[in-house]
Amino acid sequence: MDDNSTTPHIPQTPSLYAKHVKVYPQRIAGTFRRIKWLVLGVLLGLYYVVPWIRWDRGVGNADQAVLADIAGRRLYFFNIEIWPQEIYYLTGLLVLGAIALFLATAVAGRVWCGFTCPQTVWTDLFMLVERYIEGDRNKRMKLDNGPLTFEKAWRKLAKHAVWIFIAFATGGAWIFYFTDAPTALTNLLTGEGSTSLYGFTALFAGFTYLLAGVAREQVCTYMCPWPRFQGAMYDEDTLIVTYETWRGEPRGKAKDDKTLGDCIDCNLCVNVCPVGIDIRQGSQFQCIGCALCVDACNSVMEKLDRPLNLITYDSIINQAAREHGRVAKKRLIRPRTIAYVVLLSLVGGLMTYGLVSRSTLEINVQRDRAPMFVTLSDGAIRNGYTFKILNMINAPRTYTLKADNLDGAMLTVIGIAEQPVEQVTLHVGPDQVGTFHVFVRAPLSSLEDKLNDFEFKLDVLETGEEIEYDSIFAGPDH
Ligand code: SF4
Ligand code: SF4
Repeated sequence: MDDNSTTPHIPQTPSLYAKHVKVYPQRIAGTFRRIKWLVLGVLLGLYYVVPWIRWDRGVGNADQAVLADIAGRRLYFFNIEIWPQEIYYLTGLLVLGAIALFLATAVAGRVWCGFTCPQTVWTDLFMLVERYIEGDRNKRMKLDNGPLTFEKAWRKLAKHAVWIFIAFATGGAWIFYFTDAPTALTNLLTGEGSTSLYGFTALFAGFTYLLAGVAREQVCTYMCPWPRFQGAMYDEDTLIVTYETWRGEPRGKAKDDKTLGDCIDCNLCVNVCPVGIDIRQGSQFQCIGCALCVDACNSVMEKLDRPLNLITYDSIINQAAREHGRVAKKRLIRPRTIAYVVLLSLVGGLMTYGLVSRSTLEINVQRDRAPMFVTLSDGAIRNGYTFKILNMINAPRTYTLKADNLDGAMLTVIGIAEQPVEQVTLHVGPDQVGTFHVFVRAPLSSLEDKLNDFEFKLDVLETGEEIEYDSIFAGPDH
């Protein structure tokens, strides 16, 4: 346990213009630290491994399980393939994520910030490297405050070299989510990558280095909006990290003074804090809820053989209960959490239904505007359309197309059916958009108006599926 009395702490409401005071978090072991390592391992493992999972989608198709293929305009997630016009699924996913975050916050306070936020995870990783190379808190403070020596120079250089390596691994891994990972890695390593491949990798690496290595807790304190409004999700049953003032105060070191509380003012809770605050001063918005101060204080209480959880990760209502000698109990089911669970189930259910029942065929028709119509030599009227068929499955499809509800209508399709036919056969390759220029002709006598409603009818030969598209056929004034 080391003394923190020489280290100034970030003020309660830091000014945007306040001089930055470097925080030197001390290593601490304990339950929450173990949970944090576990979460860090799982999340980083997933982040670096997922782009390497292969998924067979047939010849000529992306074989990466999770891929945002910008050039091919597709999002792949295992056997789910999202087309650009289905981007609402992504919106739904973001809404789901937001509600889940609200629920987690209502139940366990800043659990996202303290355990799973990428800023926290990478900062923890960068601090692990720093601690390994430069030593724990006291050694790092001594190193920073001391003169430039050979030892200081190599330790700093080694730390930054490892940080840069992690930053590039992180930036590179992010790129792998947007392009074929093995190809991108080969190109990166052999110098055959495009400028944008190197540029974006360097950009994301730079951000990782800056945010996790340099800015650290300042991102949470000054840049992130989440701490500013997450309080709206709290209630008296939300689990938060707090100091039990009624039990700890008045604090003091004297061993046999019965008038003192349990806090011996050792400052360990402050020394381990990654944002450099003193939780004994009350809840502060800078607190990311990592609970390392709980581990710290529990380690002290264990040594002193005093009850644990002087700093506690519990609800306000339970703290009050303990203070007044009542039994504390967890209350997970309450109006706020019920509302979030209902919302979560609703949006999740809608999305699942949408995905399960989603069509694998869509058509898109655009009518030629200039000219609106052409009068042919035999007096018939002709309109032109750009007809797109989205074949959203990984197999070729054959379609028959005809115009319905327009007497005597015949079709021609450039490059496919040059002579007028009642129905035309079209082919679209697997997972492709077929674009056809279709002309519909109809005798003038069949037109009732200047603008006439009719339907394109498309049948899928392989499945018998039928799809209709309402359109307009233009003719001269009547
Ligand atoms: S006060 Fe405690 S819970 Fe809050 S950030 Fe500091 S160590 Fe983590
Ligand atoms: S709250 Fe616990 S860790 Fe913090 S100063 Fe008091 S005894 Fe030490």
